[in-house]
Amino acid sequence: MPTNRTFAIAGAGFSGAVIARELAEAGHRVTVYDRRDHIAGNCYTQRDPETGVMVHVYGPHIFHTDHERVWTYLHRFTRMMPYVNRVKAVVGGAVYSLPVNLHTINQFFGRTFSPREAEAFLREKADLSIVEPQSFEEQALRFVGPELYRAFFYGYTRKQWGVAPTELPASILKRLPVRFNYDDNYFSHRFQGMPENGYTDIVARILEHPGISVQLSTELAPRDAASGEHVIWSGPLDDWFGQAHGALGYRTLDFERFGDQGDFQGNAVINYCDVDVPYTRITEHKHFSPWERHEKTVLYREFSRECTPGDVPYYPIRLVRDRGRLARYLDMARAETGVTFVGRLGTYRYLDMDVTIKEALETADQIKLAISERRALLPLYVDPD
Ligand code: UDP
Repeated sequence: MPTNRTFAIAGAGFSGAVIARELAEAGHRVTVYDRRDHIAGNCYTQRDPETGVMVHVYGPHIFHTDHERVWTYLHRFTRMMPYVNRVKAVVGGAVYSLPVNLHTINQFFGRTFSPREAEAFLREKADLSIVEPQSFEEQALRFVGPELYRAFFYGYTRKQWGVAPTELPASILKRLPVRFNYDDNYFSHRFQGMPENGYTDIVARILEHPGISVQLSTELAPRDAASGEHVIWSGPLDDWFGQAHGALGYRTLDFERFGDQGDFQGNAVINYCDVDVPYTRITEHKHFSPWERHEKTVLYREFSRECTPGDVPYYPIRLVRDRGRLARYLDMARAETGVTFVGRLGTYRYLDMDVTIKEALETADQIKLAISERRALLPLYVDPD
């Protein structure tokens, strides 16, 4: 096998771009295809020509990580500006602090608890008969009790996922902390920030290498790869197999843009947790760039719905039905040669940007090692089961 290989990469998001760069720097030739007319996948940001605001076109993306390698890697391609995500929630006509913290508990119950008192208070409400929470609902009842669950999680989750929280895995709620102090940083990671010139600019710089060519508005179909060319597939896993076992379920998002002058909501993200408000959150994009000044403003009302053919997939649902299908696709994937599945769509997981980049770097490490040791490249370097 030659030590200089050619690769065809489907998808110009973080997975595809990072792997392309790593392989190109190792001397391989890479072509990156994307069916859309832009790079950066769902992280795509664009400076709005009318207002000058940097818009997160596919919804809010805040970079946060504990992985030093990923944080250092990003700094090769951008300056990260200080940004802390502080989300508010509107429930029953009042505004609360998120994630659930001492302020939320005191606001919601009209108390002045100390950390210890709040913890004891919630422990009284917790359903301790649930030892190992299986579903989203069990996780909530076990850790925050019925009142906070109904107020902050039940309605939002129904709207976001389109099913009852009893049908969703506990892992979705485990993304959010419950804090017994006044820390309202939405994330608990060591590093957090916003790229100075948006995410599209980072991906463009990652792709800027003589060994990489990019073909936009071009779909790489599964059987399109030239002979000897290895495919890195960051498209939907089920698409590679022509949906032989049926479509894996995704949620997609619709955004209703509005706004003109001034400051509409005074914060980047406000969640609307009541089930009778049809949207899940409102994002005011200029607050993602607090170091910039803008007279005008751009807002998105965000609506979640089932992803149908032709829609952009966002969130893998992973209900019981999807898990059965996923297992069958993974069996097929493990038997494939000439392709490696990567990223959120390629491995059908709810991945944050930092994990996507971490796995892309590690996958590229493995590929380079296999090539140097003249071993075959594997279809999966991360098992998503
Ligand atoms: N969630 C909720 N209420 C909120 C915020 C989040 O019930 O106000 C639940 C919801 O099910 C959501 C999950 O927690 O899908 C994870 O939230 P996160 O903010 O991480 O979602 P993302 O920003 O990735 O859409």
